[in-house]
Amino acid sequence: MAKKTRLRIVTPTGELYNDEAEMVIMRTSVGDIGILASHQPLTTTLDYGVLRIINGDKEIKSTIFGGFVSVTPESVTLLTDASEWIEDIDVERARAAKQRAEDRIKSGRDDIDILRAELALRRALIRLECKNEK
Ligand code: ATP
Repeated sequence: MAKKTRLRIVTPTGELYNDEAEMVIMRTSVGDIGILASHQPLTTTLDYGVLRIINGDKEIKSTIFGGFVSVTPESVTLLTDASEWIEDIDVERARAAKQRAEDRIKSGRDDIDILRAELALRRALIRLECKNEK
């Protein structure tokens, strides 16, 4: 049986996950990385992306919206601003958010906060990617 690492996902509202994982794939600010047990120590920042937790032939997915990851040979700890499990994502809501953000960005209006719209667009795209709807 493959060696396992201890994965913890912590959000501002509490611990979302605390269990074993064979492999954890996440999007960091320097690209996608996959972590197995006994990985060398590493600390880096998380980008918006899809987290994949793999155990044997089972895979579970969640969104991750920024934060930090700390890896030791025994554990992977994500401190993230926000996260949601794939089954909690409402595809129609994400599509609507994507459309709204795109319309705001395209409008060219002075009263639009472009950065805010771009972040909303990125969140919507990650939610759709998590659902394989992109
Ligand atoms: P929206 O404009 O649809 O609210 P948003 O990107 O502005 O999208 P966030 O600020 O990222 O929303 O999230 C606010 C809350 O709504 C969070 O609890 C988040 O998990 C939830 N949420 C946002 N979009 C979705 C979605 N498509 N499906 C399920 N939950 C969502």
